[in-house]
Amino acid sequence: MSDSHNQRYDCVVLGAGLAGLYAAYLLRQSNFSVGVLEARERVGGRVLTWRTLAHLQHAELGPEFIDSNHHRVIRLAERFNLTLSTRPDFWGVSPSPPFGRKAHRAWRQFWNEVYALAAQVPDRHAPWHAPESLRMLDCVTMRAFAERLGVWAAGEPLFRRYTQNMEATEPENLSVYSVAAQEAFYGKGVHAGVYRFVDGTDSLPRALADAFCALGGDLRLSAPVDAVEQTPDGVRVYARQAGKPLTVQASYAIVALPFPVLTQLEWRPAFAPWRVDALQCAGKGAVIRTLVQFRRRFWREEPFPRVYADRADISAIWEETDLQAGESGVLSFWTGGDAARHWASLSEGARIDECLRVLEVMYPDCRAQVIAARSYDWQADPFAQHAYIHHAPGYLTEALPLLRQPEGRLHFAGDYLSLFVGYMEGALESGERAAHAVQDALRPPA
Ligand SMILES: Cc1cc2nc3c(=O)[nH]c(=O)nc-3n(C[C@H](O)[C@H](O)[C@H](O)COP(=O)(O)OP(=O)(O)OC[C@H]3O[C@@H](n4cnc5c(N)ncnc54)[C@H](O)[C@@H]3O)c2cc1C
Repeated sequence: MSDSHNQRYDCVVLGAGLAGLYAAYLLRQSNFSVGVLEARERVGGRVLTWRTLAHLQHAELGPEFIDSNHHRVIRLAERFNLTLSTRPDFWGVSPSPPFGRKAHRAWRQFWNEVYALAAQVPDRHAPWHAPESLRMLDCVTMRAFAERLGVWAAGEPLFRRYTQNMEATEPENLSVYSVAAQEAFYGKGVHAGVYRFVDGTDSLPRALADAFCALGGDLRLSAPVDAVEQTPDGVRVYARQAGKPLTVQASYAIVALPFPVLTQLEWRPAFAPWRVDALQCAGKGAVIRTLVQFRRRFWREEPFPRVYADRADISAIWEETDLQAGESGVLSFWTGGDAARHWASLSEGARIDECLRVLEVMYPDCRAQVIAARSYDWQADPFAQHAYIHHAPGYLTEALPLLRQPEGRLHFAGDYLSLFVGYMEGALESGERAAHAVQDALRPPA
């Protein structure tokens, strides 16, 4: 890392999450001078691996699962020699008792309709270009659509569990057209959540940051950006580092910050009103992840509980350590959507206690086995302020195509700009797109 202040770069990147790091790495590979400013004392943003566990085990507080079509993640893992593994011995349950046949029939009926809609999306890479009949469904929520089909009452618990687990929200907040467009975008034959990083997800941002620095890139940690000014020939970024003001100049900027943070910074000139309006359409997905390490993996001895807790606030429990050696093991508890918002008023200790209460119903002696625990509320993280985006009504067809546009010398990246909605792959894809745009601007094609 260079000590020089008031440095001038070809491009300055705001944020060292996966989107920013990948953009910076690609630009540096093409020999452009690049500086990255990151508010935290670490890289990776929402990628957060808990590594202070006993017996050298680790577990994820942020992302974990990788789909078979996340080709950028998979390629980077290969490039940096990071092992990805499938999940041959995965263990997971929902603490609610299994839902009945009626609920499953309603669920299937809903998805058959969604698949039929997905087949009508004319361009899966630009679902906002669609006939009016489909675009109108972007104003219809998943719940309203299920009600129209007459399957809501029977299927409600399944709809809720799905949106809390996958979309970090409730069926009332999710556009049904977005659900169909995601199906169309993914296509058939994709295996969801098949891979994980054996040594922890944070090995990916760390490897990217190391590769960027090894190429001579300039990475500044603990350097929160306060203001960004566009001048006739470039961009000036005002940050702080070690309590001192830091000004960085560049020809272009890639803004790879989480969307809730964007409107809290000072932009000179101010963002166009259309960007401010579009940002308001983005849904802030809420997740609290709680991890508990136990001395023994008792859940392996009796894999399916005889009694269920019947609590809807924890929608999934699974083992984090199935790819790791040792007698001890870690369970992950997922709280998403409205339940995560309600839990936000609880202390970390109270949240851990709630998780153990639920587990005790299924495994009565579990509390005695606890070694360590941690609970992380992503809404309360000042540099994230949400877990990941959900497509609220209007976001996909109205806001997303606008938000992808540059504004002057500012280009934008981040998972909220991708059709890999709320995935690391989406962050990488958006970073790649922004890097190519800046590259073209710096070195116009001959
Ligand atoms: C609980 C949870 C579970 C998830 N599960 C999965 C999963 O299983 N699989 C998957 O693929 N994805 C998953 N995701 C999504 C994945 O984590 C994100 O899509 C991805 O990490 C987003 O990367 P990003 O670079 O767009 O944003 P971020 O990682 O948020 O990066 C933005 C960066 O900007 C920095 N920043 C903020 N404000 C400032 C400022 N003022 N100045 C400078 N820097 C600033 C932040 O500190 C951060 O480093 C999950 C996310 C969460 C929270």
